[in-house]
Amino acid sequence: MEVIVLGSGTSQGVPMIGCSCAVCTSRDPRNRRTRASIHVVMDGLHVQVDAAPELRLQCLREGVDCLDLFVLTHGHADHVAGMDDLRRFCDLRGGDAITVYSTQEGMARVSSMFPYAMRDRAAIRGYPAFRLTAMPGELELPQGKIRSTILPHGDIDTIGLVFAERSSGKRFVYYTDCKRLTDEAVALARGADAAILDGLRPQPHPSHMSIGEAVEAGRLLGVGRIWLTHLTHLTEHAALESELPEGFMLAYDGLRIVV
Ligand SMILES: [Zn+2]
Ligand SMILES: [Zn+2]
Ligand SMILES: [Zn+2]
Repeated sequence: MEVIVLGSGTSQGVPMIGCSCAVCTSRDPRNRRTRASIHVVMDGLHVQVDAAPELRLQCLREGVDCLDLFVLTHGHADHVAGMDDLRRFCDLRGGDAITVYSTQEGMARVSSMFPYAMRDRAAIRGYPAFRLTAMPGELELPQGKIRSTILPHGDIDTIGLVFAERSSGKRFVYYTDCKRLTDEAVALARGADAAILDGLRPQPHPSHMSIGEAVEAGRLLGVGRIWLTHLTHLTEHAALESELPEGFMLAYDGLRIVV
């Protein structure tokens, strides 16, 4: 299984508009963060998780040219705003709709933002088409399983995902945009081979885990390699990563994790 981190940033991205701080003006490419999103390749199945406002640019940058199914973790703008860019993937499959798995909140947001895409086939060749489907607790696919769990994220819930590849038996966890991990989320992730967790910033936040909270939550998982994502301009990559405990790292745009 391969995980491509398309974006590792929070809702404003880094650099932020109108900010001249050391991180926003850094020359280290790991401090340049588009909005959070990943692309998972599991035994040849291409799963896209979330659509950042930069989705098209992220796909061009990382050479993503295939998409089999799409999971929207929740309906916040930094995760849903790029969904119109999925039109190209519909076009590549002859206009057939892309199956979009999400929560009730996520599905309602998609249908209100993209009413023209609520159909089984693109209205006109080149238009997007989405088939909305409630994310099941367990999605059984020929290439493996995608398990999901609900994570608290302020006023709404987020879908946490655990990918299990059939051929290798490897498991990968993606828990972004959450204030804490539930007992169920911890149990589901325990002993996985790699994980990416929400670690917004050093300071506490009402709807995201701070770096410290993410490390504390990560220790419960028994996962050897854990990357933190959804980072702000308050995190300087090299400086903060050197302070993290063993086994914890910071995600960055373009990071590829072989699980
Ligand atoms: Zn800044
Ligand atoms: Zn969010
Ligand atoms: Zn977000």
